[in-house]
Amino acid sequence: MTSASLQASRGTRDIWGSEILLWQFLEQQARDILGRANYQEIRTPIFEATELFSRGIGEGTDIVNKEMYTFTDRGDRSLTLRPEGTAGVVRSLIEHKRLNQGVQRCWYQGAMFRYERPQAGRQRQFHQLGVEVFGSADPRADVEVMALAWEFLQALSLPGLTLELNSVGDPEDRQRYQAALVEYLTPYAQALDPDSQVRLTKNPLRIWDSKSPATQDILTAAPRLPAYLGSAAQAHFEQVQAGLTALGLTYTLNPRLVRGLDYYTRTAFEITTTDLGAQAAVGGGGRYDGLVQALGGTPTPAVGWAMGLERLVVLLQKQGETPAPRLDFYIVAQGEGTGILSLQISQMLRRQGFRVEIDLSNSALGKQLKRADKLGSHACVILGENEVQSQQIPVKWLATGVQEWVDFPAGFADDERWRQKFAAIPRPKGP
Ligand code: AMP
Repeated sequence: MTSASLQASRGTRDIWGSEILLWQFLEQQARDILGRANYQEIRTPIFEATELFSRGIGEGTDIVNKEMYTFTDRGDRSLTLRPEGTAGVVRSLIEHKRLNQGVQRCWYQGAMFRYERPQAGRQRQFHQLGVEVFGSADPRADVEVMALAWEFLQALSLPGLTLELNSVGDPEDRQRYQAALVEYLTPYAQALDPDSQVRLTKNPLRIWDSKSPATQDILTAAPRLPAYLGSAAQAHFEQVQAGLTALGLTYTLNPRLVRGLDYYTRTAFEITTTDLGAQAAVGGGGRYDGLVQALGGTPTPAVGWAMGLERLVVLLQKQGETPAPRLDFYIVAQGEGTGILSLQISQMLRRQGFRVEIDLSNSALGKQLKRADKLGSHACVILGENEVQSQQIPVKWLATGVQEWVDFPAGFADDERWRQKFAAIPRPKGP
């Protein structure tokens, strides 16, 4: 392979330039909003034992059957790059015995890996932001996590979002429902799409996920899960809805929002957008009271969600949201002794909190000044041999073209002087 052919792997991409500012903005909003609700950030390893995911996500799911990046390491262990965040978080809380220490609230952010067919909004390495609450069966926990998701999306000012809500009941409700669904679908078995025919025996609830119009037609008159909720799940569902309403969150009931695995219980929700074409889901979550036990911990109720950050970034870009770069000083220098001076001045200004770049090109002054303009710097510090002698340094304000003389070092060390200058400049609220 020649070096010219090296490229990022299929389904992965580089994030850089103005896009990185959007990521930093997203991450800052998440940190602020989740921090105010006292959620603790957790960073778990990117790879884990394969068994964690086959048990935690479930044998029989697409992720486990077809999409995992699984490999054997040099010690002959089967490892997998995490395809989602929850399993690792649960493993960590069990391992560190945090689940018997009262309610635990955490959030995570990071890269996930799934071997999927790449397309717009779907990658093989992508990023999720997620929250989890462990140790509370209170419907307020469900409301809290949904409200935080909503608060976060509001902070990004994204229009066109819908919160879809359902309850998948308790496992015994689902069993009764599943029997009714199979009874209804069996006479139509031949007309279902091939995947759904397999699911009819293996995991009937997941037939609701089918994209086949014929299958969806058949489902139109199928029994709906909400009609099968037991009284406890029904009461929980009503309290969740009352909580959302009290907080002013609008939601749409979607009885088709169904999860096939046994450890999912009660609340299920998804946040969708009309602005992303086929990949309409921005995030989703719900209650999974059976998961901790499935992973070997003591039974612990839990609720959470995960959002796809790439999709949020695309939505921000569609809004024309490109945070302006904010360079305060650009230092141009040419001639004997100016190099050291440029280092000293940049250090002084940076210590006062300003964003400062030194021109390292050694090209003609005119060219260096052009670069200051191009970067949109507020001011340009101009260093030549005369300035090294006189210690009187020209600082040019690029918006007005006004130039002033500042004495070195005292003038540059004078915080108050610079603050007053910048107070008069409208500075974009960059990340
Ligand atoms: P899931 O863990 O499948 O419930 O996904 C949660 C969210 O992660 C989805 O709503 C998407 O926004 C995002 N997501 C899932 N898979 C991908 C992918 N392959 N590429 C980009 N985003 C994804």
